[in-house]
Amino acid sequence: MIKNKTVLFIFILATLVSYAGIIEAQRTSEIAPIDSNGPVTYFIAEGSEQSHYKKSDHELAMWALRAWEKNSGGSIQLIPGSETTALLRVYWVPASPGQYGEMWPLFVDGQRGAGVFIRPNIDALGEELAQRARLDPLFRDTIIYLTCLHELGHALGLAHTADYSDIMYSFGFGGDIPTFFERYREQLKSRQDIQKIPGLSASDISRLQSLYNTD
Ligand SMILES: [Zn+2]
Repeated sequence: MIKNKTVLFIFILATLVSYAGIIEAQRTSEIAPIDSNGPVTYFIAEGSEQSHYKKSDHELAMWALRAWEKNSGGSIQLIPGSETTALLRVYWVPASPGQYGEMWPLFVDGQRGAGVFIRPNIDALGEELAQRARLDPLFRDTIIYLTCLHELGHALGLAHTADYSDIMYSFGFGGDIPTFFERYREQLKSRQDIQKIPGLSASDISRLQSLYNTD
């Protein structure tokens, strides 16, 4: 009987935690910089059809990685690596209602890295975003790109902010979610513009640089 109560308690707790994390799974608590003494290896996985991944999403993750690299003040240099040894790993996973992505720390031979998990199924992010994404492929790509950028920001050691202009802003602070994506989408004339427009605020960049430029 006690055992059953314990199981029930854990179930209720897990349910509460899962609702609390409806915007983003709260596994970003262990946020810290990754090891960047040498070049940082990255790996971008192929996604499954079940996750609603598109082949072109690989490029969006790549551009998000490059955006952080370019704005790191030279302190982060990215090079491709294998799945088992890369410090930064990007995966595409099936929808979990209301969740965009999440980040898990990982360690490779004692070096700190991170895995980010992106959920490219926009239909699971609410009808308003889903409808806009269906009508406008660049709006869909905006959501995937900015989600990659945000989760990679966590992977690199950046925590949430309460400033709506930051990519590290948490929707947990409120604010209009469609507008958050729309303001980036409005800057794009073509898909190629995504690699030219990083989507980082001055504060995102200075926070990154102060984490890595410690000399
Ligand atoms: Zn986050």
